[in-house]
Amino acid sequence: MKRFWLLTSIALLFLLLFGACQVKSPAQTKNEKPVIFVSIVPQKYFVERIAGDTVNVVVMVEPGAEPHTYEPKPAQMQMLSDTDLYFSIDAPFEVNWLSRIADINPNLKVVNTAEGIVKRLSTEHHHEGEEETEAEHEEEGELDPHIWLSPRLVAQQCKIISDTLAAQYPENAQAYAENLNAFLADIEALDQTLKADFAKTTNKTFMVYHPAWGYFADEYGLTEIAVEIGGTEPSALELAELIEHARTENIHVIFAQPEFSTRSAEALAEEIDGEVVLISDLEEDWLANMQKAGEAFLKGLE
Ligand SMILES: [Zn+2]
Repeated sequence: MKRFWLLTSIALLFLLLFGACQVKSPAQTKNEKPVIFVSIVPQKYFVERIAGDTVNVVVMVEPGAEPHTYEPKPAQMQMLSDTDLYFSIDAPFEVNWLSRIADINPNLKVVNTAEGIVKRLSTEHHHEGEEETEAEHEEEGELDPHIWLSPRLVAQQCKIISDTLAAQYPENAQAYAENLNAFLADIEALDQTLKADFAKTTNKTFMVYHPAWGYFADEYGLTEIAVEIGGTEPSALELAELIEHARTENIHVIFAQPEFSTRSAEALAEEIDGEVVLISDLEEDWLANMQKAGEAFLKGLE
């Protein structure tokens, strides 16, 4: 009888040990879905439109922060060790961080969704009467990073996202392809609406504090004028030039976004008897925000 209990105990011990080996690592049990990082909030929407709830998407540049100068938090750097994919988008902060992130996490697959997109030069304010050659502009000009504000370019980025997800999680490839098609149809409808709307406006020039809407402007035959100059507030002299410019272009709305100071935008609006209208380029519901922005621009151009 004693022997029986001894054997049973040994068997139980084995079971326990064997069972322990089956237990997943704490990271896996805590979070069953694979983790995917993106740089900015709208990308979260893109990935979720395609992946549905098969993944958890974490955004590097948290809402309200600013993708031009962001610095990842230690906790975010820590989380990357449990992350399968990082969808980058050539956001300015990535220049300093992405290679470091890739070096520390050799298993992390970093995929640049800006791949294949031909960038425009950032909208810069030009001084009246100053001639500038294309080469000079090219030399001093920075490439415009706001490629998520053109429906056409977003469609391009989403194909890369969908292909990458399908390769990483082939069991969901069919669903990803269907979700991509549904999203592409929404993008197409948005694009058609914006095309039709802006074809009707006679005013085509708008003024915006931070020049985020250049791709949008290019797409719909509009011209963007930036209030911000070289990433900072304009000087008094530059502000006077902008006021003059706004008057000649019959501008009465200055667009600004919550992430940036609106001091000079307010000053400008006051001088031209206009108003400041806030539109964010980093809202989570990208589709709704693009519709909202389209309506705001349309109203501003009236
Ligand atoms: Zn920006």
